[in-house]
Amino acid sequence: MKYISTRGQSPKLDFSEILLGGLAPDGGLYIPEIYPKFSDNDLNLMRGMSYPKLAFYILSRLVDDIPSKDLERLIDKTYRPEVYGFVRSGQDAGDITPILKLEDNLYLLSLSNGPTLAFKDIAMQLLGNLFEYVLDEKGQTTNILGATSGDTGSAAEYAMRGKKGIRVFMLSPFEKMSRFQTAQMFSLQDDNIFNIAVKGVFDDAQDIVKAVSNDHQFKSHYKIGAVNSINWARIAAQIVYYFKGYFAVTSKNNEKVSFTVPSGNFGNVCAGHIAKMMGLPIHKLVVATNENDVLDEFFKTGVYRPRGSINTHHTSSPSMDISKASNFERFVFDLVGRDAEKVRELWKKVDSGGSFDLKSEGYFDDVKKFGFVSGSSNHVNRMQTIRDVQLKYDVVIDTHTADGFKVALENLDPGVPMVVLETALPAKFEDAIIESLGYPPERPASLMGIEKLPQRYNVFDADVNIIKKFIEENVS
Ligand SMILES: *Cc1c(COP(=O)(O)O)cnc(C)c1O
Repeated sequence: MKYISTRGQSPKLDFSEILLGGLAPDGGLYIPEIYPKFSDNDLNLMRGMSYPKLAFYILSRLVDDIPSKDLERLIDKTYRPEVYGFVRSGQDAGDITPILKLEDNLYLLSLSNGPTLAFKDIAMQLLGNLFEYVLDEKGQTTNILGATSGDTGSAAEYAMRGKKGIRVFMLSPFEKMSRFQTAQMFSLQDDNIFNIAVKGVFDDAQDIVKAVSNDHQFKSHYKIGAVNSINWARIAAQIVYYFKGYFAVTSKNNEKVSFTVPSGNFGNVCAGHIAKMMGLPIHKLVVATNENDVLDEFFKTGVYRPRGSINTHHTSSPSMDISKASNFERFVFDLVGRDAEKVRELWKKVDSGGSFDLKSEGYFDDVKKFGFVSGSSNHVNRMQTIRDVQLKYDVVIDTHTADGFKVALENLDPGVPMVVLETALPAKFEDAIIESLGYPPERPASLMGIEKLPQRYNVFDADVNIIKKFIEENVS
């Protein structure tokens, strides 16, 4: 299996070669040269598999330059019930992504039972084990530099803590994350984790990461790496739970299932698209956004019009506050018939601050063929949905999942199961739950009082030279 760039001007590479990198040299994103396809017979075999067995069956089609035995061992080490233990009472942690039936043809797929209570743990935990393995094989080390507003940073730190050959330098806006998110990250005492609180907002932190990455000499000398949402291995790992969810709600392969995905950077739903391309009988992929509805606008009109950070709303589903969907290019590549020249032309407009219109270009009718529809939600919808779901099913969902739930209900088809992906647990967003329900969500016992644990972090001005100096001092 080789990987190609969506912009068509980079060499084809193997999985391990793209694992540690970000964008392709031509500015595109890596994608399989050909999607492997599962037959009806494959699906029958996969139906009865445990999560790690299923993950190995799928990922071994996408990774052919890591010996099978090693890949299997890394997957088994990642997908253990002890790692994904924050399940609701009555659910089996051994399922890794348990399904919760709300009523006939309406389900919640629990993806957020990992250490940081968000779905990003599913992919990031595997990434941690893959990175450590590949670096060790190559005799290399890496210093991961990232910026976070909450979920990505904590998932990365919990995946990389204590890993050989890896240090993490994670920038976050000082005093801007929730108390719970701050405690999750800053209470880590591992020597290889460096929390850097920047006096400013998220964009200031993000700008510093970009400036460091653009200093090619510094980047290569200090082996700066990334784990951002365009990382192919993260997408690959996320494909697995679409299969797991499908098998959990069907008994035969001629049944179709729809999935609703609370979306920001389009990474999660992109994995759903690829699962469909690989032969999973998906009916609809429903893209749910919050007030930052750049994706909803595209799927309704064919116009993709990313917005600047000034026009990005700060909402109560903050992990979806994104106005430029970094993985969207992967889907558009397929939509335009894998025409890399076309993708280059479209992103030339986007990269210079513009937009494009695929309806006037004649590509938009195919969006339906790929199964995509969309909707959006706002703060009032979210608060109401959390109350409704609690009253009707006695289940408390978080604000991101609520955005998904609201849009899922608008896209039901008779007789077709709808699976809503639960992207975070409510404990992570306590204030919003109190606003909606009047009382706080349940918190797992082992996370009680984490706000009171000693915290380990450095506060710096938003100055790229200060951050570079800090990295230099801590990399020896
Ligand atoms: C990251 C995140 C999302 C958005 O996922 P994308 O892959 O960026 O579309 C949604 N909900 C939660 C809770 C998240 O952490």
